[in-house]
Amino acid sequence: MARVYNFSAGPSMLPESVLRTAQAEMLEYGSSGQSVMEMSHRSSVYDAIIKETEAALRRVLCIPDNYKVGFIQGGASTQFAMVPMNLMTTGEADYLVTGQFSGKAAKEAEKFGRVNVPASSKDKNFTYIPDVDAVEYSKNASYIHICENNTIYGTRFTKLPHADGVPLVADLSSCILSRPTDVSQYGLIYFGVQKNVAPAGMAVAIIREDLMENARTDIARPAMLDYKTLIDAESMYNTPPCYTIYMMGLVLKWIETEVGGLANMEARNNAKAKLLYDYLDGSSFFSNPVNKPDRSIMNVTFTSPSPELDKKFCAEAAAAGFVNLKGHRSVGGMRASIYNAMPAEGVEKLVEFMKQFEADNA
Ligand SMILES: *Cc1c(COP(=O)(O)O)cnc(C)c1O
Repeated sequence: MARVYNFSAGPSMLPESVLRTAQAEMLEYGSSGQSVMEMSHRSSVYDAIIKETEAALRRVLCIPDNYKVGFIQGGASTQFAMVPMNLMTTGEADYLVTGQFSGKAAKEAEKFGRVNVPASSKDKNFTYIPDVDAVEYSKNASYIHICENNTIYGTRFTKLPHADGVPLVADLSSCILSRPTDVSQYGLIYFGVQKNVAPAGMAVAIIREDLMENARTDIARPAMLDYKTLIDAESMYNTPPCYTIYMMGLVLKWIETEVGGLANMEARNNAKAKLLYDYLDGSSFFSNPVNKPDRSIMNVTFTSPSPELDKKFCAEAAAAGFVNLKGHRSVGGMRASIYNAMPAEGVEKLVEFMKQFEADNA
C-alpha cells in the first residue's frame, strides 16, 4: 500500500491513526456486535458516541456554556441559507466579501433580506483582507458575516470585525481546529467538516444561546433549517450523519491525545506553512500572490512562471505522490491545502520536490 500526500482542499486527508482506529472498529464497535454504520441512532451505544463527540468539541475549543452545538446536514452551503433565515432579525446584515464562499453566502442571504457589503477585496482578485477597523458597518445590521479562512484564495482574517452589539457570524470551514479560537468573540461559528474534521456529510454550528432563542419570527422556516428545532432535539430531530459524527469524535480524540490540544496544533500548522512560504519567498521561479500578513496557514497558493509549467508541475508532482495540487479554476496555478492531518513530512517532501522542479525547469 502506498498512501499519497493529498493536498486536496476538501474532502481532504484524515490522520492515519484515525483511519486505523476506524478500520479496527469497522466490523464491530466495542462489544456492540455491529458497525457504527449499521447501528440505530437511537441506541444507547450510538447515544454515547454523539454525546462524547460534542463533549470533545466543547473541551477542545473551550466552548462556553451559553453556546449550543448542532450537527447539521447540508454542508456549509446550507448554513449560507440558515444564517439569514434564523438570524436576520432586522431584515438586513453586513457581509464582508473576501472570496467565493463569502460571495455565495451573501448571495444566498439576499433571498431573505437586505445584504450590505461594507468591504470586499474583489478589486485585487481577493489577494488580501480589508482592514476590519476601517470598515463602516451598518447601524441596523443583524450580524456581520465573514469567511475567516478563504480556501480558494489562501487568505485569512488575523483580526475580527467588531461593531458594538452586533454579533459576528463566521464560516470557519477551512480553519476550524487549526488553532485555538475564542468562541466568545462570535455569535455563530459554522463549518463544513470535510476540510479539517471528518469525512464529508455535515456542518457544525456553534451558536450563542440568546441568538438561537431570539430567531426571526417574520418568516416560516422548514424544521430542518431551524437551529432551535435541531439543537433542542440534540441533533437527532431526524437521523443524523451517524458515521461522520463518529469519525469527528476520533479526530477530536487525536487532537486531544496525540497532538496535545489546539496550541500544539497551531504550532505544527505554523511550522508547516512557514516552511512552504519561506521557500516560495526565496524562489525566483514560484511565487505566492497573497498580501503577506493575510496569508492562510491552511491553503497556500502559488504559481510558476507560466500556465504550461503549472500544468507540468501538477502532472509530475502527482506522479511523485503529491496529489491534488491544481489551484482553483478562478485563481489558476497551484494550491497546497495543508490542513491539520497533513504531516510535516508531507510539506518537507513537497518543498524538496519543488526545489528539484525549479532546478530542472528554471
Ligand atoms: C468548502 C467550503 C465551503 C463549502 O462547503 P460545503 O460543505 O461543500 O457546502 C464553504 N465555506 C468554506 C470556507 C469552504 O472552505
